[in-house]
Amino acid sequence: MIRINENYLKLQASYLFADIARRVAAHQKAQPDRPVIRLGIGDVTRALPEACITAFHQAIDEMATDAGFRGYGPEQGYGFLREAIAQNDFRSRGAHIHADEIFVSDGAKCDTGNIQEIFDSASRIAIPDPVYPVYLDTNVMAGRTGKCRNGRYDGITYLDGNAQNGFIPELPEVPVDLIYLCFPNNPTGATITAQQLKVWVDYAAANRSIILYDAAYEAFIRDDGLPHSIYEIEGARQVAIEFRSFSKTAGFTGTRCAYTVVPKSLMAFTASGEPHSVHSLWSRRHSTKFNGVSYPVQRAAQAVYSDAGKRQVADLIDYYMTNADRIRRALQALGYPCIGGENSPYIWVSTGKDSWAFFDMLLQKAGVVCTPGAGFGTCGEGYIRISAFNSHENVATAMDRIRQALES
Ligand code: PLP
Repeated sequence: MIRINENYLKLQASYLFADIARRVAAHQKAQPDRPVIRLGIGDVTRALPEACITAFHQAIDEMATDAGFRGYGPEQGYGFLREAIAQNDFRSRGAHIHADEIFVSDGAKCDTGNIQEIFDSASRIAIPDPVYPVYLDTNVMAGRTGKCRNGRYDGITYLDGNAQNGFIPELPEVPVDLIYLCFPNNPTGATITAQQLKVWVDYAAANRSIILYDAAYEAFIRDDGLPHSIYEIEGARQVAIEFRSFSKTAGFTGTRCAYTVVPKSLMAFTASGEPHSVHSLWSRRHSTKFNGVSYPVQRAAQAVYSDAGKRQVADLIDYYMTNADRIRRALQALGYPCIGGENSPYIWVSTGKDSWAFFDMLLQKAGVVCTPGAGFGTCGEGYIRISAFNSHENVATAMDRIRQALES
């Protein structure tokens, strides 16, 4: 008798976006004359940078000739892209990352979800709350947790984020092996300083644990003092894996290109304490289960690092960050404490009430869709996430409507 992986039965059905969609549909039916403005889901809205489009077209034209045609490429990514990443995203910031430590992929979602496979199923896991749900669910699927009770799985060490710690979790009180961190954070928009990150790197080194550092929103950092990569921190090459994505940086959510950095100096251990290269494990996993990102997409991603590409990406980020600034100021002026929005496209708003109640109120009174914080974990209760991914015009209208709704 074929049996299922019963760990899947422990997963909490993710009602968040389905529930939002249902409530929005009901609202639109009731008020068809006023279109809703969506500041909820974290998908980008603006076109790909021109430099990426040009490179994309050129690569497709190459594929149209026998001489320029490419079949299967290297699973880890083409050298031209890995080299451009190593130089521009790391070495230019003093982080010693080599091209062959970069694994190009079709998304940080897959990579952050798949990475846990190469570690022992008994590994002790620390996960922030609130959190991007992929880290948790993939560990549930892998059988590293018990049941979910009151919104929390047995067997997970939760790293609470709250107003007191500015949504930068404190070190765990019990020993852990794998630690997920995400900065700038989704959903809170919080950022971490080099000194704060060093505390985590030192903890990981002392405990022989590994940090899984999700830097998918790195491009939104505007404060020059903040680290863009964990490898800017001394000692991180021995304790960290970093995930990056072109999704939010350059509008690749539908085009799909990302990468994961696994330094060759990173070791994990057998039960008897023998060190093994994590790079070689991930390389083996990647080349067995993944067949590479398409050639035109990698050429489009490479164009992000051209002079024109850098300017256009900066303009794209500026556009969204103008929205973030307007949203943050508008909510603060109405008396709602916010974090995020200064170095991230998300604004995390303290609502002073139940997050779903606030969501419903914004939808009914203002016709604006946000994301209830409770959907990201128990510590998200009492907050909403507002995303800056929309047009200037829509954000201006949304803020006017919110102002009227909250002041009435
Ligand atoms: N990591 C975080 C924190 C995210 O918010 C997202 C997407 O929203 C991802 C990873 C996924 O990125 P990708 O589009 O590369 O799969």
